[in-house]
Amino acid sequence: MTDETTKITGPTRCGFCAIIGAPNAGKSTLVNQLTGSKVSIVSHKVQTTRARIRAIVMEGNAQIILVDTPGIFRPKRTLDRAMVQNAWGGAGDADAVILLIDGRPGLTDEAKEIIAQLQATKTKAILVINKIDLMKREHLMDVTTAFNEAFHFEQTFMVSALNGSGTQDLLKYLGEKMPASPWLYPEDQVADVQLRFMAAEMTREVIYERLHEELPYSSTVETEGWEERKDGSVKIDQVIYVERDTQKAIVLGKGGQQVKLLGQMARAEMEKQFGRKVHLFIFVKVRENWAEDKERLRNMGLDV
Ligand code: GDP
Ligand code: MG
Repeated sequence: MTDETTKITGPTRCGFCAIIGAPNAGKSTLVNQLTGSKVSIVSHKVQTTRARIRAIVMEGNAQIILVDTPGIFRPKRTLDRAMVQNAWGGAGDADAVILLIDGRPGLTDEAKEIIAQLQATKTKAILVINKIDLMKREHLMDVTTAFNEAFHFEQTFMVSALNGSGTQDLLKYLGEKMPASPWLYPEDQVADVQLRFMAAEMTREVIYERLHEELPYSSTVETEGWEERKDGSVKIDQVIYVERDTQKAIVLGKGGQQVKLLGQMARAEMEKQFGRKVHLFIFVKVRENWAEDKERLRNMGLDV
């Protein structure tokens, strides 16, 4: 993903790391662990995320941009299949791909399907076996062997995303794996950008909770403004992008009631997580075919 012509200033590294894994494998928990973030957005729900940047991790001289590739698991409908294609595209472009699994059930049919996809797309991947705090050592060894017999992983890590065991080794490995490149984010902006992602995630989760029947995968949220106020509060401007006018109507609701409620719920979560007063302003816009716009997906969040 790095541009050959980019001038390299100093010995910095920067790259993208895609995390693929079944719902509940522990992706959010791992991201939180790697970022050392106190803000945790852990969900038991499935497929609440779509391909996008979710965190930036600084590791030594390396800037690791963690991206999600949701939807890779279990495509059931056409839209999902399109998403899966998109997700695999994202994984293929990444500098590192992590296959994160809940170690307990071992090499499930689901895992076999993913491995078949890795083989078909010739995607190199790092195996990360999670939840080892809940596994007996012997079982862990069996699972490790089974996976490594099924696919030639670049490396295998055994971690507990929850208690952090093994995650530092993984982080160090990822840092060294990133290509020489200038950082995409100035270091002093990383924390800021991070907060914007998190705020967007919170609104997205609320939308999913309330509206997933009506708009399963057709919306995305971006934080476009973040203004610190003297009184310690923060003013956050967000845009909910949908694909069609009909979806916009759903998000707005009668007389704007729906979006008002979404905003209240998201704001409450933000205040809880950020521990400060939040003024949240949400706009709803139609962006046709945004899901197909790969370049946009790839750059999502980079222009803040
Ligand atoms: P995601 O759907 O892949 O993002 O999974 P989450 O990060 O939301 O985690 C799903 C559930 O597994 C949550 O209840 C987490 O607390 C739990 N979990 C994640 N990692 C671990 C781990 O290493 N050990 C244990 N015991 N639980 C974990
Ligand atoms: Mg998650």
